Amino acid sequence: MRVLLLGGTTEGAALARALADDARFQATLSLAGVTRAPRPQPLPTRIGGFGGVEGLAAYLRDERIEALLDATHPFAAQMTRNAAAAAGGLPLLRLDRPAWRAQPGDDWHEFPDMPALVESLGETPRRIFLTIGRKELAPFQAAPWHHYVVRSVDPPPPGLLPPHATLITATGPFALDDELALLRGHRIALVATKNSGGAATEAKLQAARRLGLPMRLLARPLPPPGLAVVHDVAAALAWLHDLAERGA
Ligand code: NAP
Repeated sequence: MRVLLLGGTTEGAALARALADDARFQATLSLAGVTRAPRPQPLPTRIGGFGGVEGLAAYLRDERIEALLDATHPFAAQMTRNAAAAAGGLPLLRLDRPAWRAQPGDDWHEFPDMPALVESLGETPRRIFLTIGRKELAPFQAAPWHHYVVRSVDPPPPGLLPPHATLITATGPFALDDELALLRGHRIALVATKNSGGAATEAKLQAARRLGLPMRLLARPLPPPGLAVVHDVAAALAWLHDLAERGA
């Protein structure tokens, strides 16, 4: 069965490994090409956008794709919308890892958009740990009186960092002890992030909790209505195995 796997996540990499070892599937992994040095993948890999809904629909047709598995990041909302619009009658499944949840006693607030989160930071200058991805940095220019410690995989393009910022480039997974040391070392007063979910980057929230720091999160975008969604790799594989058995 010819499968297109939209990746760029830990789950996408796990699915790529599973599909590479399974003779029933002829799968191609698709990456956006945003990471400078993506890890080597066990599947044939194409890199770069398709050219919107029409480009993706043409790709699915030309490559005779029989199933589309969207394992992109929970905040890759555009790609998820495009996949839903381009799939037509093709079997399509979205793998959306579970969101992080507040625990009793947490100082935890979620916001529907980044400007609302930025506004919540207030006017008293604070030292803020920011792990939100390059695309979301611009709204923080509106609150330049804070000192931001920004962590991202690759450096943001020039001009996107807020004026008072320290940049840390690093790739997860991150361990709790290291996150505690980072928050203490930079005298962080608040952690701002996206509710990405997943184990690889959760330690910063555990560390913030341990230190009693406020956590401000961007809430998940909603998936397109009617989209079939599962929440873990095993369920996504079960869906594919079922399709293969039925010869879809
Ligand atoms: P996005 O805003 O939803 O997508 C923007 C455009 O990038 C899409 O319209 C598509 O271009 C292209 N694209 C996205 N994912 C693609 C894929 N897997 N294969 C081919 N083209 C893709 O996505 P994003 O938030 O920029 O994320 C880009 C990639 O980084 C995704 O693969 C995602 O899984 C990964 N990622 C994102 C985040 C995050 O916080 N957003 C975090 C970690 C990893 P066309 O319209 O031209 O097809």
